[in-house]
Amino acid sequence: MIRLLVVDDAPFIREIVRHALRGSQIEIVGEAEDGHEAVAMAHKLRPDVVLMDIVLPGKSGIDATREVLAVNPAIRVVAFSTNDHETVVMKAIDAGCSSFIVKPFQAAELVAAIEQAAQIKIA
Ligand SMILES: [Mg+2]
Repeated sequence: MIRLLVVDDAPFIREIVRHALRGSQIEIVGEAEDGHEAVAMAHKLRPDVVLMDIVLPGKSGIDATREVLAVNPAIRVVAFSTNDHETVVMKAIDAGCSSFIVKPFQAAELVAAIEQAAQIKIA
């Protein structure tokens, strides 16, 4: 199983993610709703992948990504945002995100992006 930390400040988005990943090879090991919590939980839980909302209260997903990767560079971070403007995507990649998922998303697309980020091939 791929261990995933889900970061999004919107409870309904986290719920949609839980539903989308049901029956997949991805296990949600934690959920965080702001950037500070995301960093703390990533350090504590050491997930394989973090699904990181970009717009978060307090600390942005970009800053949280930098902090997570500074301590645990093996963690893969998939950026998660409603805004896919080029500048946002570039910032996410610059911060170390390995891919980018745009909300709203298809379940299969989310599963594929997380599996790809974890570099686990599932036939
Ligand atoms: Mg948000």
